[in-house]
Amino acid sequence: MGSVKVSQLTKEFSGVLALKNVSLDIKEGEFFALLGPSGCGKTTTMRCIAGFEQPTSGIIQLGETEVNHIPPNRRNCGMVFQSYALFPHMNVFDNVAYSLNIKQLNASNLVAKLPVYLRLLNRKLGNYPKYIEQKVMEILEYVELDQYAMRLTSELSGGQQQRVALARSLLMEPAVLLMDEPLSNLDQKLRHSMRNTIRRIQQDLGITTIFVTHDQEEAMSMADRVAVMDSGEVKQIGTPIELYSRPSTPFIANFVGTSNVLKGSVIGQENGFSIIKGKGFILKSTNHADQTEVNLIVRPENIKAFKPGTINEDKLTNIIDGTVLVSTYLGSIVRYDIKVDEYQLVVDTTFVPGEAILTEGEKVQLSIDPERVLII
Ligand code: ADP
Ligand code: MG
Repeated sequence: MGSVKVSQLTKEFSGVLALKNVSLDIKEGEFFALLGPSGCGKTTTMRCIAGFEQPTSGIIQLGETEVNHIPPNRRNCGMVFQSYALFPHMNVFDNVAYSLNIKQLNASNLVAKLPVYLRLLNRKLGNYPKYIEQKVMEILEYVELDQYAMRLTSELSGGQQQRVALARSLLMEPAVLLMDEPLSNLDQKLRHSMRNTIRRIQQDLGITTIFVTHDQEEAMSMADRVAVMDSGEVKQIGTPIELYSRPSTPFIANFVGTSNVLKGSVIGQENGFSIIKGKGFILKSTNHADQTEVNLIVRPENIKAFKPGTINEDKLTNIIDGTVLVSTYLGSIVRYDIKVDEYQLVVDTTFVPGEAILTEGEKVQLSIDPERVLII
């Protein structure tokens, strides 16, 4: 069973609380991302799940089994690190086959298969039983490295090395694959293609995967669900769409994409709308406000910008006046920085060929659909 359940996990390192009551419930076959800034506790969470770190308190379950006191080699987790952790003096084949030997030697049915293991123990590198050779070549083919089997890993590119590391952990047929920032050492272009490779393999094999990253785009584009962490705590768990459209705090709103955060006070309720007043604006929102002092979150693509006088005031609500500070042409969109009182709002508009772009210093009127004004 490949489900992973972490309950109330706390980890203290000599007085420093690295994890505070982290709870995760990851389904079998799910691609789950842990996303958060450096130092927030992502690696520590993974190391606790893999068994390299003993939690201060809390329970870790793999499938139905509590594994707190089960050593790492018997947890059936494969791990892939940012640093690949390959043996540079060994060829690709040996690097991959090595893990199989370790796994087999640790297998619980050691006695039954002792003759095979003894053979393995006495083997020289490059001299494997046939079935191991087949299995390794199969997996190398799978990650498209079969042509490179006899190359030293030190002679491979970063992307190829990471695929060796991936092959090595897949060969062990783990119930859970743990990947800690596996793409961070790769350049941008390779990172993109490796995202696809990893996702394809994960879906192909249906292997439960926990993927650690500090890169929101990576998490949002790859994962079924994402847990956003900050300062040792899980702040929100949801699908990429849920996190983007309903972030629970300004931190998350900014961490998963760009957003405008406005502070305001609720001054009334009217026909199902909450009315919020702040510096330079009065806005209606379809959200319900539980308290008077609130944060409003508005995504850049949900603000429309008009030259003064061109706005249809009968049709549009939530009109605010501003001044263009910067306009940046980005191909399919134009991004504006617009000053509204003390705020500098980011506004993304679709670029329409032939239509004039607003310029620096120009007055502008903004309009925001009340459904797109999120109260948190
Ligand atoms: P992340 O992977 O999100 O960057 P880590 O899990 O590595 O974060 O670290 C979380 C916190 O725990 C950090 O403050 C880090 O300094 C601390 N930490 C991690 N490992 C140790 C350790 N072995 N000893 C002391 N502090 C540690
Ligand atoms: Mg880390």
